[in-house]
Amino acid sequence: MADTEHKVTPMMAQYLEIKSRHRDALLFYRMGDFYELFFDDAVAASAALDIALTKRGKHEGDDIPMCGVPVHAAEGYLLTLIRKGFRVGVCEQLESPVEAKKRGAKSVVKRDVVRLVTPGTLTEESLLDARRHNFLVAFAEIRDEGALAWVDISTGEFHVMPCPLIRLAPELARLNPSEILLSEAFEVNWADLVPDFADCVTPLSRASFDSTSAQKRLTDLFKVASLDAFGGFSLSEVSAMGAVIDYLEITQKGKLPLIRPPAKELARGNMQIDGATRRNLEITRSLSGGRDGSLVSVMDRTVTAAGGRLLERRLSSPSCDVAVINHRLDAVNFAADNRAITNTLRDALRNVPDIERALSRIGLDRGGPRDLAAIRNGLTEAEVISNALPPENIPTLIHQNMTFLTGHTDLIDLLDAALVAEPPLLARDGGYIAAGYHEELEECRKLRDEGRGVIASLQSEYANATGIQALKIKHNNVLGYFIETTATHAEKMLSPPLNETFIHRQTTANQVRFTTLELSELETKIHNAGGRALEIEKHLFSGLCSRILEHAPQITDTSRALSEIDLATSLADLATSENWVRPVVDSGRKLDIQSGRHPVVERALRKQGGDTFVANNCDLSDGRDGAAIWLLTGPNMSGKSTFLRQNALIALIAQMGSYVPAAAAHIGIVSQLFSRVGASDDLARGRSTFMVEMVETAAILNQADDRALVILDEIGRGTATYDGLSIAWATLEHLHDSNQCRALFATHYHEMTALSEKLDGAVNATVSVKEWDGDVIFLHEVLKGKADRSYGVQVARLAGLPTSVVERAKIVLAALESGEAENAKNPKAIIDDLPLFAASPAPQKAPTPKGPSEVDEKLAGISPDELSPREALQLLYELKSLA
Ligand code: ADP
Repeated sequence: MADTEHKVTPMMAQYLEIKSRHRDALLFYRMGDFYELFFDDAVAASAALDIALTKRGKHEGDDIPMCGVPVHAAEGYLLTLIRKGFRVGVCEQLESPVEAKKRGAKSVVKRDVVRLVTPGTLTEESLLDARRHNFLVAFAEIRDEGALAWVDISTGEFHVMPCPLIRLAPELARLNPSEILLSEAFEVNWADLVPDFADCVTPLSRASFDSTSAQKRLTDLFKVASLDAFGGFSLSEVSAMGAVIDYLEITQKGKLPLIRPPAKELARGNMQIDGATRRNLEITRSLSGGRDGSLVSVMDRTVTAAGGRLLERRLSSPSCDVAVINHRLDAVNFAADNRAITNTLRDALRNVPDIERALSRIGLDRGGPRDLAAIRNGLTEAEVISNALPPENIPTLIHQNMTFLTGHTDLIDLLDAALVAEPPLLARDGGYIAAGYHEELEECRKLRDEGRGVIASLQSEYANATGIQALKIKHNNVLGYFIETTATHAEKMLSPPLNETFIHRQTTANQVRFTTLELSELETKIHNAGGRALEIEKHLFSGLCSRILEHAPQITDTSRALSEIDLATSLADLATSENWVRPVVDSGRKLDIQSGRHPVVERALRKQGGDTFVANNCDLSDGRDGAAIWLLTGPNMSGKSTFLRQNALIALIAQMGSYVPAAAAHIGIVSQLFSRVGASDDLARGRSTFMVEMVETAAILNQADDRALVILDEIGRGTATYDGLSIAWATLEHLHDSNQCRALFATHYHEMTALSEKLDGAVNATVSVKEWDGDVIFLHEVLKGKADRSYGVQVARLAGLPTSVVERAKIVLAALESGEAENAKNPKAIIDDLPLFAASPAPQKAPTPKGPSEVDEKLAGISPDELSPREALQLLYELKSLA
């Protein structure tokens, strides 16, 4: 092979050097109007983006695979790659080819990575979900003390909290981060540590977590002598925050986003809700994964993106602080009582753009003209909103926020004067600075747009000045612009005083040609006007950006105040139209909900246009100390799960600071919320479901304190009848005696109703049904007392089981029920006594040959002791198909 084939071109050498520093990212290597990818990056990207894979040149004798995406469309491709789990290094040209040439004919244009795009560090509007935060978190542990820090660089929020390892998973479930930073020194398997987020983990070197350098990074960033300025932090908290900042430095290549000083969150300040409970209650996303069908989707009436994010944040971390909750409720109350004001506020809020995210892009030098307009429009509306609020008699929360709405007059005036009403998306093409704002820009634009007009007016100016009406200004490629008169006027033009202004250029047979300083300047100006106009606009643009950034903290305050008002008014709107009430929230242990409803099920029923939702009471207070448990029985499909969840949701909605879907509600602070569903509802997660159910139940029994609210739906269902019953029984006893918490416990084991006689704090309740003509009708009404029977067979009939099977099941059931007393220990005996297939229709198959039939064989292999009622039914099915 010839030696030259192994020669690496200077450009490829540069590529390889840059790539060697960014092995874990796809490298977008800028070449003119394209980002090109080479080698394995190209293979991976072309497959992920479904674009053509080509080749370019050779490396070590082999073709170099290549693919590329146009720069102007790069955002869309970036989004796809990030969603598919890639990280992307954006490598830009740092000088123009002309500049490179000046350094030497063969010089390669300087390039380097200017930004690493990762899921946790996005700022582009198109890459983000407007109504969701995009959190980057870091977990650090120093001497067994854990801490979690998180930032949303698209809004500047920065938080930290102590977090023992055991609380990591539930906190992550709350924050739902896009990216998690963990130290490489942390010798654990991510999948075990954070099972739901293993794909989001980015390991960082031990140095990134070093608490001493973290301290320096943080004090430098926030320009303070000591972090004490923001409150006291533990070493692990400093380490976690430091890792976040280090990672931002790495990915943003030193250009740090605007970040607010860290706010410390108290571990116990919020209602603790673990991942399983969040999933199960479908708080911010439904079981199918989307926002539709979740609690947030039915509660969201906010009209700004930041308001939407605040709602989601509040629902993800309801407060445990009675005062905070009541302040929020006061604000909603005010908005609900003052409809006219609320309507005005909401109309103004509808015009408020996403100020926070615009500001963050400006801070990272990624802003466009529309981001400036967003700030201008947002601040302007903030003034309108402030004026719409009465000066007195408003609740504290609104009053506090009102003070952040004003004080931007200078900036608003500046932006008003400087920007056009609706600027274009990109700064690149200019056209966003308003007419009349800048003299030179004005001139340039005039020249650019009206070059010919300016020349024409100059021509008439010269004609008047010289008195030569035939004087013309013309243009050719040799001379450019020139002034031309006929030879008859030559004498006059060449003599004083005109010859002081008019410089002779050329004489032809009939004409004399001149130029003037003014004309040649004008010519250069016209020529450069377009470029110069752009340059001035860009210069003004960055000036405006700096002016905005000088006010960044105040602008963020305004944006927060606006989102707070948006949330309060939107909740008031919801409460008024949906008939929700203000809950009483205090530090007691009551949980008394009158005529409560499940907001999501209610909405779904309304959409279907069928049944209306039946409201139900739930009173776990009963005036007793200690445990307060309702044991709920009732047939499947009667509404048990709905009832359980609605009460948990009502407590959560109240503590996030909203009115609730009920006629009245009194909620004593719930500090921990747990919700579990029996295994068979949880198949989708693909683990041994019974095991999961037990692990999760254990977690509750080990953690729930007397402030907890526990919702258990058919716990024990995932195993054989007697096992299940015993587990459910023991669990309930434990909740009652040890945890002493408030709980709602739904079960289909009727046997358990006996427990309430034994346990002081346990009460039986049932969802009522009516039997009509052999069918069961669900009334969805929850009443004290126990269900008389399970109606499972009737439900099966409703579900469309063949009549023959239903009839047969009734016989089996009757036999089981009547034989139960004598033969409790031996259900097999009952089954054995049953006449086989008494009710089955005539066989459809040919008669079975002599000898044991398939049915006989199947029956021989059955151990009725180990069958759950459902399995018994399934078996009947199978037997029937064999008969
Ligand atoms: P279970 O847990 O007893 O099997 P669910 O709570 O899943 O029953 O409820 C089954 C269906 O019954 C729900 O999807 C809903 O359509 C309806 N339902 C439940 N509760 C009510 C209610 N209070 N009012 C009206 N319909 C209800």
